Amino acid sequence: MIIHHRPVALVTGGSRGIGRGISIALAKKGYAVAVNYAGNRIAAEETCALIDDEEAFPVHADVGNTVDRINMVRTVVSKWGRIDLLVNNAGITSLGRLDILEATEESWDTVLGINLKGPFFLSKLVANHMLEIGPANLVRPAIINITSLSAFAASVNRGDYCVSKAGMSMMTQLFALRLADKGIRVFEVRPGIIDTDMTSGAREKYVEEIKHGLTPIPRLGTAEEVGKTVASIATADMPFSTGDIFHADGGFHLRKL
Ligand code: NAP
Repeated sequence: MIIHHRPVALVTGGSRGIGRGISIALAKKGYAVAVNYAGNRIAAEETCALIDDEEAFPVHADVGNTVDRINMVRTVVSKWGRIDLLVNNAGITSLGRLDILEATEESWDTVLGINLKGPFFLSKLVANHMLEIGPANLVRPAIINITSLSAFAASVNRGDYCVSKAGMSMMTQLFALRLADKGIRVFEVRPGIIDTDMTSGAREKYVEEIKHGLTPIPRLGTAEEVGKTVASIATADMPFSTGDIFHADGGFHLRKL
């Protein structure tokens, strides 16, 4: 099997939005990047073209689907022989953004399946791959989970999304704890309001709320900025840290009086 000379990152939902920002930022820091997508292959190919076709390739999987997850890991390992970094970024918002008194089980199952069950079992697969290959043979082996300010800020019109992100926050602690003595570190990045397709429908509302003080840094964030946060954590010289939460939210989490 060929073992890629660069550390390899698998970025779920790496094709668009924040995932694209992460993929590009990691490539700039020397990673080869497997760019996962679910439906939009063209977007994934565009992301790869923005990197370098030798150092990036698109890999299909619905992260909510068991067989897809297994095939995705097999595809990356058979092409490049290693996964040094998993970024669990793929996610969707609540279907219809309904008030919790109108919430549907369909949205709950879909959102929790993609945002929480998928990353949990993908982390299990990748962690076992890392243990098999030997963490000492990898470069800074790590898992980085992209949660949201919704892990702690309640929005009653997307309860399932909030629960999925709060769950992913606990998932970060669980994997950080389990893998701490194996040399695999696990972190959480909590983006704030980021200018992507996901937020485009509510953009004007957010712009207005930001004008009235919603975020200390008074603007929406960009996918590139979240990418830089993730790439900084992935390559940081902080070997005694694991399980930490990093905010990329313009200071939204700061309380004031
Ligand atoms: P986005 O612009 O809607 O992009 C979503 C990405 O996820 C796309 O690459 C999409 O690929 C992929 N994806 C969706 N469902 C998938 C599935 N079942 N399997 C694999 N990939 C799937 O979203 P975004 O704003 O970049 O958000 C990325 C992550 O950041 C999400 O977890 C989100 O919850 C989180 N986040 C976003 C914000 C924000 O303000 N935007 C804030 C906090 C946290 P396809 O196009 O192929 O479907």
